[in-house]
Amino acid sequence: MSDTAASMPAPWAPASPAPLGPPGLDRILQDPGFCRHSTGRVAVVEWEAGSGWSEPRIEPYGALSMDPATLGLHYGQAVFEGMKAFRGADGTVSLFRAADHGRRLARSAARLAMAEMPVELFTRACAELVAADAHWVPGGYGQSLYIRPLLLATEAEMGLRPSRGYRCVFLAYPADPCFGSDFRPLAVTAATETVRAVRGGTGEAKCAGNYAASLLTRTEAQAAGYDEALWLDGLERRWVEELSTMNVFFVWHDADGRPRLATPPCDGTIVRGLTRDSLLTLAAGLGLPAVEEPTALDAVRDGIRSGGLAEMFACGTAGVVVGVGRLGTGDADLIIGDGKEGPVTERLRSALLDVQHARTPDTHGWLLPVTGNAGTAAIEGEGRDA
Ligand SMILES: *Cc1c(COP(=O)(O)O)cnc(C)c1O
Repeated sequence: MSDTAASMPAPWAPASPAPLGPPGLDRILQDPGFCRHSTGRVAVVEWEAGSGWSEPRIEPYGALSMDPATLGLHYGQAVFEGMKAFRGADGTVSLFRAADHGRRLARSAARLAMAEMPVELFTRACAELVAADAHWVPGGYGQSLYIRPLLLATEAEMGLRPSRGYRCVFLAYPADPCFGSDFRPLAVTAATETVRAVRGGTGEAKCAGNYAASLLTRTEAQAAGYDEALWLDGLERRWVEELSTMNVFFVWHDADGRPRLATPPCDGTIVRGLTRDSLLTLAAGLGLPAVEEPTALDAVRDGIRSGGLAEMFACGTAGVVVGVGRLGTGDADLIIGDGKEGPVTERLRSALLDVQHARTPDTHGWLLPVTGNAGTAAIEGEGRDA
């Protein structure tokens, strides 16, 4: 899939050796939290009607200045990605599935009638930023440099039409998994009042509006003691779709106790998670049968009660793979298994992190190395607390 990985040399690798990061960087990297500290740098790529895409620029982190009539603010032409760079066992820093993230950003942009950035340009901007920030990539297992490319319509215009200007800003932050590195199982509750997406809508796009639409119900779920809302389909309110920022998997046990993985199909209402896709691929390699299959909330409830549903987990770039230990269904509150993380969840997360940290061979071409294993280059006095 990562067609750029094999063919591209690494012109972004910094030539000069290895200066120091800002004071306190070591401490930040030991306990980065999730996106608390910007690296102090961004990559920027712009598009204008007529002239097309600019080359990437690396700039200091700073405020955007915008006209209050900016189209992206009024009419929501804003899409983003969430991706990661990992430090491998030998110190090399690599982007994970960068080209696939670029392809998804382009698809999200197309759905919102925005300019589609070429995948090669997207990947180069990420690689240049990560190469410049290589000393900001923590080394702990599960830690990463989180990269947030945001593509926004920048033209000032009050009439409703697609913008004739866009800016993509790539932000970077050292990060632990977003729900914590202890992977404590989550509690989720089905959204019974609101829906996140319907077929034909924007549910599959990583667009800002989807997250605004989820916030009310997600916040109510959190006030009721859950971590997240579990979204159901918009028509029948019956089929499980995903969480607000993560896809979901079920681990069913057949009569012989053999596990079988299932995840809802991508029919236009859920985000096509690259973690989801990676896990489907890795499961096959581990000999775990895995299918994309519509799953009704009723079936999940019955499965929890009968024991046929052994595990449930959520997956996404930011949170990696994290168990779901408790499920609210609207009329019941059920503990899945013994409420603790199950063995299949743990096994799949390890398989994924082992590839990401280059502890196992990258047989799928998912890693794009952006530094040599000496890999630290920096500028003094940078860094900014987000
Ligand atoms: C980003 C996202 C995911 C997970 O996608 P990954 O590529 O695995 O990070 C799942 N659902 C939603 C709604 C998302 O925004």
